[in-house]
Amino acid sequence: MHNPRVSSLLRIPDLQHRLREAGAGPLHEHRILRLWSHALPRESGRRLPSTFFPASLLAALPGIEAELAALARVHTVHAGADGSERLLVALADCQTVESVLLPRHGLCVSSQIGCAVGCGFCMTGRDGLLRQLGSAEIIAQVALARARRPVRKVVFMGMGEPAHNLDNVMEAIDLLGTAGGIGHKNIVFSTVGDPRAFERLHGQQRVRPALALSLHTTKAELRRRLLPRAPRLTPEELVEACERYARASGYPTQYQWTLLEGVNDGDDEIEGLVRLLSGKYGVLNMIPFNAVDGVDFSRPSRERCAAIARRLHERGILTKLRYSAGQDVAGGCGQLRARAAELPVVTLQRDRAPSLRQQPSRAATSAIARPASADAP
Ligand code: SF4
Repeated sequence: MHNPRVSSLLRIPDLQHRLREAGAGPLHEHRILRLWSHALPRESGRRLPSTFFPASLLAALPGIEAELAALARVHTVHAGADGSERLLVALADCQTVESVLLPRHGLCVSSQIGCAVGCGFCMTGRDGLLRQLGSAEIIAQVALARARRPVRKVVFMGMGEPAHNLDNVMEAIDLLGTAGGIGHKNIVFSTVGDPRAFERLHGQQRVRPALALSLHTTKAELRRRLLPRAPRLTPEELVEACERYARASGYPTQYQWTLLEGVNDGDDEIEGLVRLLSGKYGVLNMIPFNAVDGVDFSRPSRERCAAIARRLHERGILTKLRYSAGQDVAGGCGQLRARAAELPVVTLQRDRAPSLRQQPSRAATSAIARPASADAP
């Protein structure tokens, strides 16, 4: 009998192998991957499963579907005032990760449990890396999200550093950009900047994602302190590598900048950004820091944030000031997971895991579990 804690389908190639063993041809395999990644019922499509799939595959499908459904389930849902929803997702081995449904059909997924980079302003990095997510577990987050609402953009900006789990992230990206139906420019690979990741992205043939770089400062020494275990590339080297990929892919680089009061919100950083990014094919996303208990940083005032963005704009740097989605619900990366670990679980609202067999029921998946203290602003 299948033990839900030890899934044999953690990676997409495992699933493909199982399907082929059961008699699936390329078209059968593509249809099953499409149905799964879109959270659609098996009956979707013009041809009935009974006339489309070989008998051996039809016989094996219930077991495969059960394993896929067991990969991930929604543990709790935390609704934000801006229309976002933070999902704490429980995996088959009872580890948890966060996914965030963003306004306008976006989804932020996690690629690791924990993270080895250890950024000083992030809860996820506190305990280091616990384990990698398999590519199928990444797609399972997309399937869970699509059972709740449409998803047209997937960003790898949740828990973990995608460059540290390249094989699984690239497998997931390939599926998202093919059977998963996500436009390639709407798949965003986010990294602190790792030469292996740049090399791999350049080699991508079938699905080339857009690139986001966590820059945070223009000063090499400060960056070493803020992102202690990121590769030792200088901001200049990072921007140069991103620029090469942006020109090759045709998608502008998204430079990410968490605004920290008294750390990287000074006039010197404005000058540094003008020097680094002038003429580059990119956009600067400035995200005011989201306060985290026990983390010794704070957010600059709204006026200061707006003034920085305005001054950069005036100097020709395309800058967007973004308040991160769901920040009113313990919204920083890793905070839900950290809080869930601290708390006894008060309420568990099980959502239906997406299945190829059953029609997704939005009513059944829209219930909001609100452990009293887990989502307090
Ligand atoms: S901000 Fe990203 S890279 Fe840094 S510790 Fe958190 S998850 Fe890792």
